Amino acid sequence: MTIQWKKSTCPYCGVGCGLTVKTEHGKIVHVYGMDGHPVNKGDICALPVHYPALFSAAGRLTQPMIRRDGKLTPVDWDEAVMHVANGLNRIIKRYGPHAVAFLGGAANFTEEYYLINKLMKAAIGTNNVECTARLCMASASMGFLSTFGADAPPTCYNDIEEADLFFIAGNNMAVSLPVLFRRVCAARIKNKTKIIVVDPRRTETACMADIHLQIRPGTDVALNNALAYILIKEGYVGETAVKQYTTGFDNLKEVVEEYSPARAAVITGCTETFIREAAHVIGQAKKMLTFWFQGYNQSTQAVFKNNTLHNLSLLTNNYCRPGAGPLSITGEANTLGCRWVGTLSHLLPGMRMVSNPRHRQEVAEYWDVPVEKIQATPGRSILDIIHGLHSGEVHALWVLASNPAASLPHTRWVEEGLSKAELLIVQDIFHPTETSMLADVVLAGAQWCEKTGTLISSERRIELVEKIVDPPGMAKSDCEIIWMIARAMGFQKEFLYASPDDVFDEWKGITNGRICDMCGVSYERLRDRVGLQLPCPEMSHPGTQRLFIDRQFPRPDGRAALLARDYKEPAETTTNEYPFVLITGRLACHFNTRTRTGRIKHLHDIEPDNFVEIHPVDAKNLGIEEDDMVEVISRRGRVRGVVRIKDRVLIGNVFMSMHFGKASLAGDDKLANLVCNPVYDIHSKQPEFKYCAVKISKSVRG
Ligand code: SF4
Repeated sequence: MTIQWKKSTCPYCGVGCGLTVKTEHGKIVHVYGMDGHPVNKGDICALPVHYPALFSAAGRLTQPMIRRDGKLTPVDWDEAVMHVANGLNRIIKRYGPHAVAFLGGAANFTEEYYLINKLMKAAIGTNNVECTARLCMASASMGFLSTFGADAPPTCYNDIEEADLFFIAGNNMAVSLPVLFRRVCAARIKNKTKIIVVDPRRTETACMADIHLQIRPGTDVALNNALAYILIKEGYVGETAVKQYTTGFDNLKEVVEEYSPARAAVITGCTETFIREAAHVIGQAKKMLTFWFQGYNQSTQAVFKNNTLHNLSLLTNNYCRPGAGPLSITGEANTLGCRWVGTLSHLLPGMRMVSNPRHRQEVAEYWDVPVEKIQATPGRSILDIIHGLHSGEVHALWVLASNPAASLPHTRWVEEGLSKAELLIVQDIFHPTETSMLADVVLAGAQWCEKTGTLISSERRIELVEKIVDPPGMAKSDCEIIWMIARAMGFQKEFLYASPDDVFDEWKGITNGRICDMCGVSYERLRDRVGLQLPCPEMSHPGTQRLFIDRQFPRPDGRAALLARDYKEPAETTTNEYPFVLITGRLACHFNTRTRTGRIKHLHDIEPDNFVEIHPVDAKNLGIEEDDMVEVISRRGRVRGVVRIKDRVLIGNVFMSMHFGKASLAGDDKLANLVCNPVYDIHSKQPEFKYCAVKISKSVRG
């Protein structure tokens, strides 16, 4: 028996756990946590453990398909590529470059998105390039940019063992980032690190907290301002550091004056005593590490939540020192890489902005195109692409490893928009998904371990993920599919690559001198080590554990910004007709819209169906009992779930998981996103998944 052990990195969340993959006779049979890996030290969660089942799961795409007479029909690659290239060229010629758009998942390799950015932004000339970083981290990204001057998490996971306080907000880490949470728990036991959790739901994470601030959904800005108010009033502010390294203190002080603990208690629903107690713990901490996740980022005040959280770190001198500062963990494996390579409609590769003339000039020179080719205004965000499909301004959409028909809010409206596309290209590994069912062309891509490329984790660690087995049938690596289409569109000389290694070498050159500098990284160098933390500017450079340790920030005055932000209610508030607030979240056994985990029986069987958590008081008032079926109805539609009566949710709140969708065997009506509100934070354009007004009505099973 031929047994081999290969090194890899987890393809699910952005923690970036190191994995060891065991093959027997050329087949992947087991996945283990990699011993000694600096991120997970041998630990692993259930998702990658069960990944081997996906190599033989039903529905795997092995060949491209084109829709003919309403039916997706298998074709060869030449035909599929020409169909896509001719279709895109036809639409560009007829309606202009902005009639095409791209949307990808945030777990794809950076090399793939380097190619997409070059094709869309330089060759075609549109900034309509988006990925699911928009759904996950766009608000964190704008928060970092506005407070610190760069979208770059300054901390690292080793800060967990150094900290004496974890402030965890809108982040059920125990479920969504279990390996990292076990590091948090181990540090708590060993170092007696305190934990404050802010969450409207008494989550598994909140159960571990010293203080749980169970605030009303969407009221974090008021809470953070009240905490800042107490820190300032009670002398917890590190005045020397505030003077030397920050700007905006006087303005902040004036604005938070409006957020007395008494007023914040009314807004948030938390007691004044709890708010004061939390402020004292923060004020006394020597090293506070902050974690936050979609509970912050997916709201209409998301960037302000980020800014006001950073204010707490800046006021108390808890940043850019070992054990202290903001540590945002990304939901998908390469969300940071996607941002740094420019896969959002306002970005260019190498942490550059389309609105910055110098950045456009640098990128145009690097790509050898006239600077006018690169558009100065941001393209469409994800929701604006759907608006464009509805209005007839977007005619073609290329979707790569993403499932917008299930992952976006108000999914029926999204589905209608996708159905209006003249050309909907879906490049993925499984069919059907909610999105591939609507496609005109389906392209068979390669999955984890079937292709080579790099991922960048939440602590800026770049890892090489190598091909271990061949993709099945005619399926191809995503890099190859993209450069084949680009060449067929007429861009032969610009896309002359033979391997992802070639793409990486070109991509890293454009990071020269930037915070994400990876000029000192090569596939060769990554092969014999467990990643490198960026920036890594030279081949002899060991990588960078922490950023801005000199406290010189890339802002015009070199200082971090204390930003005064007022609280605003969510976009949709409750009424007599819609008296409940729906909040959504993750489950440990599923990932995103279950396009993969829904196909793994072991994981599917743990939670095969969606459910509705409701408080006992509300259940009693509505005459609802455990295991009843209920409908959750918003202004946009209705979904169903089995009742779980739990006092972990607040009275007036209901909770559903965000994973279930139409193709998941759970049925269309279990898709919580269907009722969510398709509005976004105007600064980050990240949709508000975490708050919508609903009513609850008893339903029948079946
Ligand atoms: S915590 Fe995230 S990166 Fe680590 S094994 Fe689980 S899914 Fe993978």
